Amino acid sequence: MIKSDQEKLTNLNLTIKRAKKSILYSDKLKNIEKLNSLKDISSLPFTTKDELREAYPFNGLCVDKSDIIEMHTTSGTTGKPTLSFYTKRDLEIGSNAISNAWKKFGIDENSRVQFIMGYGLFSGAMLNTYAIQELGAFVLPSGIQPMIKQVELMIDFGIDTVVATPGFMLYLSDFIENNNISRDKLKLTRAIVAGEIYSDFVRNQIEKKLNIRVYDHYGLCEVNTGIAYECDCKNGLHVLDDYVIAEIVDIKTGEILSGGEYGELVLTSLKKDASPIIRYRTGDVSCILRGVCSCGDKNVRIDRIKTRVDDLIFIKGVKINPHELKELIFNYLGNLIFGGDIKIKVRKNSINFIPKIYLTLKEEKPEFLLSLKNKLKEEIGINFDVKNVDISYFNREGSNKVKIVEYV
Ligand SMILES: [Zn+2]
Repeated sequence: MIKSDQEKLTNLNLTIKRAKKSILYSDKLKNIEKLNSLKDISSLPFTTKDELREAYPFNGLCVDKSDIIEMHTTSGTTGKPTLSFYTKRDLEIGSNAISNAWKKFGIDENSRVQFIMGYGLFSGAMLNTYAIQELGAFVLPSGIQPMIKQVELMIDFGIDTVVATPGFMLYLSDFIENNNISRDKLKLTRAIVAGEIYSDFVRNQIEKKLNIRVYDHYGLCEVNTGIAYECDCKNGLHVLDDYVIAEIVDIKTGEILSGGEYGELVLTSLKKDASPIIRYRTGDVSCILRGVCSCGDKNVRIDRIKTRVDDLIFIKGVKINPHELKELIFNYLGNLIFGGDIKIKVRKNSINFIPKIYLTLKEEKPEFLLSLKNKLKEEIGINFDVKNVDISYFNREGSNKVKIVEYV
């Protein structure tokens, strides 16, 4: 066994031991003893989001309450949120791991980063801020604010890097154009774009419109806010694999899939004390990429997230990945769309309901909508009702998240 695998195995066994201290895992792991090989990870049970919700507030906790110095939650709108607790050591080790990703993005002590995501309970903003500050960079925690304010801050403080959602970035480029703000006033060279799934097409649009480099970053509150990052080669995401173990499993059977096969991403933390997590089913669809990235990094790589298991929709028996549908619409309408959002409204188990797509056109022309409707019928074989809505419908002001699928 190579040294790094030996280290991972030691940390995995420590994680199991720690996890058993919680009410959540004491029963789930009662028959599990020390693992002898990393491959034995398949003998461990999965952890689901529902279990984490049921563990609210303290059943997932593995340390004394007095040892916790910070807590974050998912943004779940229904039911109890899932929590992640941090000891002082968790924050130090977590920040250190994430800062390696930011280093890869080119962030150093001279960087000026504007973080355009919600602070507070959302883990992404706070924990990434610590990681960026660890590199000595300046962080402007602008959070959620009206676009005009965000742009003013960007200009006044010579920001070179923004962290935001893909929709916010597309909205930003349209906003600058519509308000005749000279691009030269912005010192932007790169954006770390995360928080929502976006295609290479959308990434190219952002890069082209704003003349910047866009990097993808993946993380989630339940495990860590930084799990995988993109290097300059843009060859999938490098997993911080001394911090987490990534597996891909079959969505239905839970069987581990081999490299190149798409399934659900499952993550196990290796270095968390307060709320370690074992084989967490993330709900995100990806695959383990084969081969070594041309940047030379040998750690495991996953493909950019293609969809969420929950986002997949079935319309009249046809399985649709809404993110691919969005890409198809963007490819077809190109620059006719304002902002970067669409919303798909569907009704479960209804044969008569006509699914609806909402988007914002730069020019209100019914023939564009009709032509798109025909294109979708031709490509997917389904009739959609396509509607043009005002950009405020998506409530993008300040980088709020937009859910692509809504059930009505
Ligand atoms: Zn690479």
